[in-house]
Amino acid sequence: MKYSEIYQDMTLAAHRAYTRGIQTGSGGNMASRIAGADAMVVKNSGGSFGDCTAEGKGWIATDYNGKPLEGENGKPTREWLLHATLLKALPEVGAIVHFHSPYAIAWAEEHNEIPLTTWHSGLKFGCPIPVVDVPSAVVPAQAMDDIVKLFEENPALPGFVLRGHGLVAVGKTAVAAEHAAELIEETAQITVLEHLLKKE
Ligand SMILES: [Zn+2]
Repeated sequence: MKYSEIYQDMTLAAHRAYTRGIQTGSGGNMASRIAGADAMVVKNSGGSFGDCTAEGKGWIATDYNGKPLEGENGKPTREWLLHATLLKALPEVGAIVHFHSPYAIAWAEEHNEIPLTTWHSGLKFGCPIPVVDVPSAVVPAQAMDDIVKLFEENPALPGFVLRGHGLVAVGKTAVAAEHAAELIEETAQITVLEHLLKKE
């Protein structure tokens, strides 16, 4: 994809996530692969998905060490290492999204996976969404091996949840990754609601 196509894809994904409320304020981040360059486009640190534009505002291109490419201004998201690690480890993945999605976080607090409660999630995902413990606000280098292992054990895995933090989803494009994230969050929401109703 050209830069203009990457910006367009990421902006569409960012606005969808923001509009649907699965990421509010200035939280969350995402990355897209720059083909053939060992580089990626990520969200600026501190920016909001609501303010990103298809002209490139809110996005910054970096190498896989989080260093901005020549001519780029600003600071990349603090989660650049998570994105670089997954893009390197998963060649078929083109983009990664990370949202602080309320229902996925709420369910993961007391459970080790989000079950595939609906037919749609069962058809799309094929396996429950795992929850991993990473006790820090930013995923550190020492957690990366376990995260990559999740995808090696199940190459079709659409994403996972960081307990007390948020979800991470992958796809061929940012829009595809965002759609996977929406379905993970929807599945978590239904699971939470069913759980609450059964308690009555
Ligand atoms: Zn986060």
